[in-house]
Amino acid sequence: MRIDLHTHSVVSDGTETPAQVMASAAAAGLDIVALTDHDTMVGVEAAQARATEIGIGFVPGIEISCSDHGVSIHLLSYWHDLADAEVDAMLAKTRAARVDRAKEIVGKIAIDYPVTWEQVLARSGGAVTVGRPHIADALVDQGVVPTRDAAFQQILAGNSRYYVPHYAPEVTAAVRTMRRAGGVTVFAHPGADARGRVVPTSVIEKMADAGLAGLEVDHRDHSPQQRERLTGVAAQLGLIRTGASDYHGTGKLNRLGENLTTQQAFEALRAARP
Ligand code: AMP
Ligand code: ZN
Ligand code: FE
Ligand code: FE
Repeated sequence: MRIDLHTHSVVSDGTETPAQVMASAAAAGLDIVALTDHDTMVGVEAAQARATEIGIGFVPGIEISCSDHGVSIHLLSYWHDLADAEVDAMLAKTRAARVDRAKEIVGKIAIDYPVTWEQVLARSGGAVTVGRPHIADALVDQGVVPTRDAAFQQILAGNSRYYVPHYAPEVTAAVRTMRRAGGVTVFAHPGADARGRVVPTSVIEKMADAGLAGLEVDHRDHSPQQRERLTGVAAQLGLIRTGASDYHGTGKLNRLGENLTTQQAFEALRAARP
């Protein structure tokens, strides 16, 4: 069984529609795939419909922007109620903050480079959740950088002088909210220190106490040493070890199926549904 539980579509910052992601997943030989756009579930229905047509297993999901004392944390949630009002309000607040924050970042960059908010907005197309990758696309259009990746190496990096953070819910509150809404939560790329600060094990403990089910150990942004450490943390805290690609279409190097979740871990996630 090839199971990949972390992918993005154009609804957030991927480059394929939700339906196209499902077709790509089947072409990549996956048996089960989750759609986990940032801070929105808008793509889930279309993805589910296409997955059913193609005959591939589908898991409805999301990647929620959270924070712990100013450190950004990404929380995956699966199978929660798509119509939950509290979840909806939490996500709407983050998405609105993301727009203001993207405008601020563009304002700062515009002092030094030829880019406008209108270009970014046009480039983000139908995205429900706006992010730095859309700013990267505008910078590529303007010839400032060759690729999204190049934009993130410098201008859009977390330590760049143009960087602005955005509001995000406190992580244990988000874990509780998603669990109450029927979700199973997994801490996404917990050791990805190349993209910014990461949290100490004490925060993972706090999340486990709040009802966290799993740790995404096998992810491109983790070194072998980090995978080993996180495997130990998962075992110690009784968390399910998952793996996934974090596919963004052509927006990132990550390829579908490059990291996988075992069938046993998947069954454990399913059994963890509240
Ligand atoms: P934001 O959500 O606005 O803070 O932007 C972060 C998003 O940018 C993450 O979801 C990443 O998938 C994406 N990202 C981070 N680094 C890169 C990169 N080097 N190339 C393309 N996308 C990236
Ligand atoms: Zn992303
Ligand atoms: Fe993430
Ligand atoms: Fe992601």
